[in-house]
Amino acid sequence: MALTGLFGGTFNPIHNGHLRAAEEVMKYFPLDRILFIPSYIPPHKDQKEVVPACHRWRMVEIACQGHQKFIPSDLEVKSPGPSYSILTLRKLKELFPDDTFWFIVGSDAFLEIETWKDYNQLLRECSFIVVRRPGSELEKLDKVIDKIKPELLVEIDKREKTEVKDDRPGLYLLEINALDISSSEIRHRLRAGLPITGLVPPGVEDYIMKNRLYV
Ligand code: ATP
Ligand code: MG
Repeated sequence: MALTGLFGGTFNPIHNGHLRAAEEVMKYFPLDRILFIPSYIPPHKDQKEVVPACHRWRMVEIACQGHQKFIPSDLEVKSPGPSYSILTLRKLKELFPDDTFWFIVGSDAFLEIETWKDYNQLLRECSFIVVRRPGSELEKLDKVIDKIKPELLVEIDKREKTEVKDDRPGLYLLEINALDISSSEIRHRLRAGLPITGLVPPGVEDYIMKNRLYV
């Protein structure tokens, strides 16, 4: 049995902020691995700026190299049509019936949870770790949490590794040492001819430059 984190996103492109968030989650939760799952067609995004899935996938693969517990997953990029978390979760449960799955989402993404397909069901079927940066949108987050699932909220004490005591899905809020980086900022910098060194892993930077992405 493995405890598996699921970190989905457009990853257009993946950046050091994503990796930092996953590292922080690993510090405080006893996860055996985190699957990075780029979405095929992002259901909540304006799609014109999104580069083809094959590029986003390759960059996720490169970014996961050197992190033993970060595993790229092509589950969504190889299945045509919109990528819905609930469908991804069900497929993963079939593929790995003994695993327990935890979704990892940034607080900005979690604020939109009510727009996710079958989100109520999803919250019942697996735990969520919501990562937030200090000072970020706590009030808005509280409001959403109040609406959707007040009884299972667990605050995280950063000094200790969280014990996972029972199988009931929970909602965990983790304040992380975030890096202030977004894919939009990286795309913007590339269009403007500005450097992105330090914002993405070196291999991802090389890949972007070689393939002239986002210019
Ligand atoms: P965009 O700027 O295009 O919206 P993004 O940087 O937000 O891109 P996504 O692929 O949309 O990247 O995000 C995937 C997941 O990673 C989401 O849950 C999002 O909240 C989270 N995330 C994005 N950037 C960070 C960051 N710097 N720190 C922590 N979590 C992040
Ligand atoms: Mg985003």
